[in-house]
Amino acid sequence: MNLAVSLQELEAPVVRRSDVVVVGGGPAGVSAAVAAARTGASVTLLERYAALGGLASGGMVLVLDDMCNGSEVSVRGIVAEYVDRLRRIGLAVYPPESDRISSPEMWRRWGRWGAFDFHSHASPKPICYAVAFDPDGWKRVSNDLVRDSGVHLRLHSWFSRPVLEDDRLRGVVCETKSGPQAVLGDVVIDTTGDIDVASRAGAAYSHDGYLVTLVFRLGGVDTEAAQRFEQENPREVRAINRKVKRMLGGAWELWWLKTPVPGVVWCNCPHMTGYDGADPESLTAAEFDARERISAVIEYVRAELPGFQQCYLVDVAEQIGVRQTRLLQGEYVVTKDDIAERRHFPDSVARGRDYYTPYRALLPRGVDQLLIAGRHYSATPEAQRISREIPPCMAMGQAAGIAAGVAADRGQTVRELDPALIQAGMREQDADPGDVPASNATVELEVV
Ligand SMILES: Cc1cc2nc3c(=O)[nH]c(=O)nc-3n(C[C@H](O)[C@H](O)[C@H](O)COP(=O)(O)OP(=O)(O)OC[C@H]3O[C@@H](n4cnc5c(N)ncnc54)[C@H](O)[C@@H]3O)c2cc1C
Repeated sequence: MNLAVSLQELEAPVVRRSDVVVVGGGPAGVSAAVAAARTGASVTLLERYAALGGLASGGMVLVLDDMCNGSEVSVRGIVAEYVDRLRRIGLAVYPPESDRISSPEMWRRWGRWGAFDFHSHASPKPICYAVAFDPDGWKRVSNDLVRDSGVHLRLHSWFSRPVLEDDRLRGVVCETKSGPQAVLGDVVIDTTGDIDVASRAGAAYSHDGYLVTLVFRLGGVDTEAAQRFEQENPREVRAINRKVKRMLGGAWELWWLKTPVPGVVWCNCPHMTGYDGADPESLTAAEFDARERISAVIEYVRAELPGFQQCYLVDVAEQIGVRQTRLLQGEYVVTKDDIAERRHFPDSVARGRDYYTPYRALLPRGVDQLLIAGRHYSATPEAQRISREIPPCMAMGQAAGIAAGVAADRGQTVRELDPALIQAGMREQDADPGDVPASNATVELEVV
């Protein structure tokens, strides 16, 4: 259908003004808002749903991984604060340093927590620093961080259109139960995961896709019995897992992982291809497809998999797991080689496992006073797939928040801001901007 309707000019009351407006309250967005507020800026955070956390809470993606370079923990800052706060309320589990080695015993102890280096081809895979957490705990900690740092939060606010003056972004309009409402700011940070703001404001982007997953959790699982059976009957378990994967249409090798709640496991599956995470018709079909697969698998494992005989469905994620849709084509587009070769950039402002994010990959082309952070950052689809775990998205968010806050304070545009100021701000906030390349980095001095 190629029909279109033309709408009247929109009128929306201005309900708030602040130095920085962050759109999207997922891992990158909360990090951006908190980091900006800590520079002294006034900050408004807008989120379409009823809770903060994005895929880490509503999507029930429950392991923080991809945050170490060998034995070094390379992503710190706000990520570390989350881990610390979650641990204090008993809702985070991770291996102690002494267990972070490759051995069959450690694999048995930590493999089912998802605390392993998934890039490694060793068998068993080395145990590394990764953190299993609880989704409601993530929401609580997000609320606490936002409140403690003085961020003004507006939930139930769905971004619908940018407020532009020529090419300069002045704010955004959200759809709400009270009708459209405008929130204005000096700098806007798009952390929607699908560059909703940047794409509508006219920034250049690409559109790709990847696996879509509706995560679910099972309760009543005797994980000890399941692991014992797995150790004693590897061939039988392999056959059961093959069947489970066929029913799901795809899953990682470990399709169930432990959570901090005893007897409750999370299932990072089914992995479904051919769906577009930015298209409501496609997403509707994916929700139906996934629920049918999930029901069939529960019936099967109750009958066939020791430890799962009494299992029941605790919940299905309220938010479908979309890994990739629109990606920014910003001032620099990060490539797969940049990631694989650990290429270091002079304007690096955030660090992932062992790769670096240049400030230019957070800056759109064609729109001013807008920054981007999170899984939709400026990267090729292949590069994004290996650099978009929760911790690096949070590191990017923290860097974007600092950039916005510092630019607003100095009366400069984000485009003219010296990246050295962001790097200094990251270090002040206990985060690693990646300005000092690690010993295994490739130093690219000609890229400026
Ligand atoms: C199934 C699955 C499994 C994964 N497994 C892992 C894993 O094990 N470990 C790991 O570290 N990473 C994993 N990832 C990757 C990781 O979850 C994401 O890349 C990360 O959460 C991205 O964070 P983000 O803040 O950029 O985006 P999101 O988490 O998507 O957050 C975006 C936020 O913006 C809000 N938003 C969107 N549009 C609007 C709008 N128009 N108006 C207002 N608000 C809006 C959303 O509601 C959400 O809160 C997985 C991803 C998926 C999908």
